[in-house]
Amino acid sequence: MTARDKDVVVVGGGIGGLAAALRLTQLGLGVRVLEQAAELGEVGAGLQIAPNCTRILDQLGLLEEVKSLGVLPDHMVMKDAVDGTVLTRLDLRDLERRYGYPYMVIHRSDLHGTLLRACERAGVDLVTGACVTGYDDVEDGAVVVTAGGSHEARLVVAADGIRSVARRLLADDEPVSSHYVAYRGAVPIDQVAELDVMADGVVVYVGPGCHFVQYPLRQGEMFNQVAVFESPKALAGEEDWGTPDELDAAFAGMHENIQAGLPLMWRDRWWRMFDREPLPDWVAGRVVLLGDSAHAPLQYIAQGAIMAIEDAWVLGAHAERQLAAGATGDTIDWEPVLRAYSDVRTRHTARVLATSRRWGELWHLDGEQREVRNTLLRARETTDYSFTDWLYGPTALTPEELPPMFEPVPLTREPAGRAAGR
Ligand SMILES: Cc1cc2nc3c(=O)[nH]c(=O)nc-3n(C[C@H](O)[C@H](O)[C@H](O)COP(=O)(O)OP(=O)(O)OC[C@H]3O[C@@H](n4cnc5c(N)ncnc54)[C@H](O)[C@@H]3O)c2cc1C
Repeated sequence: MTARDKDVVVVGGGIGGLAAALRLTQLGLGVRVLEQAAELGEVGAGLQIAPNCTRILDQLGLLEEVKSLGVLPDHMVMKDAVDGTVLTRLDLRDLERRYGYPYMVIHRSDLHGTLLRACERAGVDLVTGACVTGYDDVEDGAVVVTAGGSHEARLVVAADGIRSVARRLLADDEPVSSHYVAYRGAVPIDQVAELDVMADGVVVYVGPGCHFVQYPLRQGEMFNQVAVFESPKALAGEEDWGTPDELDAAFAGMHENIQAGLPLMWRDRWWRMFDREPLPDWVAGRVVLLGDSAHAPLQYIAQGAIMAIEDAWVLGAHAERQLAAGATGDTIDWEPVLRAYSDVRTRHTARVLATSRRWGELWHLDGEQREVRNTLLRARETTDYSFTDWLYGPTALTPEELPPMFEPVPLTREPAGRAAGR
């Protein structure tokens, strides 16, 4: 059965899918979200959200709610993971003055919950337990196929994550393994009372083949840690990689502050780190990719969820031009909207993907290269924003608005087989 009773179907109720559903509904379109899980929610712990995201959350009308749930840290400090010395820092109050919006840290489920409540208030049709298995072209739209039935709309937004089904309409590729794995852990703040941690900042310890991140969450009531390392078993091609014994071995020689934080990590689950090669085009008929399905990054510059929210904003902005001129869900001409969206977002996100990989390589240097990195970072002027302006400034709506000297950086790593995935 197909029911074309919605203008837009969004596949995936993660942060990207909900942001898209909310924005398009705010613009007056009828939107249905299809989520495979039985309940809408997020697993994981903290998220860093930079001014290019808080700016959009403000425009969506959600910034105050998000601020009431998260933490606005004063500093971001990078330290050497071996000796614990400070390498460089960002004054996040100064950063807020520069970009006009704050840098925040928030529990994933709080950001997702804020978007979910906003979708419910706006009247988004939220359908759970709907696993999308395929897509068909139809005249002036697309059909989304699930076991329980089909859903037809004039536009389908596929926000179905890094292992996207919809991406197969555009590319025959697979997630790329970095051979790194992340452990997370968020605990009540009193569990770190005796530790040497910074309660008002984000701290990143960078070390040979590993790094360790710490920041407060939930108005300072919780403390979040992320431990990331390169897995020797992954490098050796073993299936069973990223296990807790590898976690302990990776951080064995690291600074005492890291040793003190490690016992607080969750040890029953871990996240193998994959990203995606950039695609030149995200549009397959009336199906368009958004979020991790289009551009899952490595997390080193903390932009994955942010890019998904930016995608939603940019897609909405191009639709809004026609809707403001009198178009409706039945008459909007989606082709130029999708073309404009894909043209600008593929370029920006390709740069983010490449930068994330390079930034990770810089963090994980060893030996003489580590010494050189540390010397350069210590010499960095802490008010030098030349590395963040392109990222934290206003989100570009057209390629012409992208920051100057924009050059997509070629990516080098070969995709690993799906068998390596988790
Ligand atoms: C360790 C780690 C730290 C990170 N830190 C940050 C950070 O600090 N800041 C930041 O911005 N980003 C960060 N990220 C990245 C961020 O988590 C992701 O980029 C973001 O969550 C992607 O959102 P999404 O909605 O595109 O995809 P997802 O969150 O993957 O959502 C996809 C949704 O689609 C559903 N789905 C999938 N397939 C189907 C189907 N066939 N049918 C129906 N539904 C389907 C899924 O169940 C899911 O709900 C981090 C990632 C990791 C791993």
